[in-house]
Amino acid sequence: MKKSKILSAVLGAVMFCTACVSFTGCEAQKKTLVMATNAEFPPYEFYEGDKVVGIDAEIAAAIAADMGYTLVIEDMAFDSIIVAVQSGKADIGAAGMTVSEERLQSINFSDPYTTASQVVIVKEESTVASPADLVGKRVGVQLGTTGDIYSEDIEDATIERYNKGFEAVQALTQDKIDAVIIDREPAKVFVSQNQGLKILDESFTDEEYAIAIAKENEELLEKVNESIRKLKETGKLQEIIDKYISAE
Ligand code: GLN
Repeated sequence: MKKSKILSAVLGAVMFCTACVSFTGCEAQKKTLVMATNAEFPPYEFYEGDKVVGIDAEIAAAIAADMGYTLVIEDMAFDSIIVAVQSGKADIGAAGMTVSEERLQSINFSDPYTTASQVVIVKEESTVASPADLVGKRVGVQLGTTGDIYSEDIEDATIERYNKGFEAVQALTQDKIDAVIIDREPAKVFVSQNQGLKILDESFTDEEYAIAIAKENEELLEKVNESIRKLKETGKLQEIIDKYISAE
């Protein structure tokens, strides 16, 4: 009797210790959610000092928090994001990334969190008045984006590919190209930062943004979709968008 009491006391103490060790261990290394992005894409992701901020950064942080994870942001070239997600270097890709059939061959997308469009930026005095006028023109795009992919359909156009969207806009201001095709919100930011540019009324394409997740990571896809659903229901998603995009 005595012996077994001592034994259970010892066992109890051991179990308590293990529990407390693993608990503190758990606290010390909180799980992380790694987001791959290209922080050249205001207002979705851009630098404020040495910190990446923006709509995607905040949505991803809210998703991570909902899952009990800490968000870590990895900045890279836009066309490296899908590879980073596929290889497991990053858990999610959040980069104003458009859902496309082509990308769905290699990765999964979460439920969309916003609609978007590709627009055409031209000089104020340009003769290009609608996307149909781009035939035969020199068109600047950001490498590997939907602007790049879809502009290939423009008849006789010369496509100039840049690593960063604002480099394409710079080339336009220097008359090296006739137009830039890029997502609407960054286009608005770039046009506001440069004189003599305008965005055509008619958009080039209409799209949806979603979060990229590796094909085999179905559990994460479900969790992210669940968090997005909550963010939509609580109005938090709209709140984040409204913080960066003022209503027209
Ligand atoms: N929405 C575009 C795409 O998915 C551009 C995204 C970006 O440049 N960050 O290709």
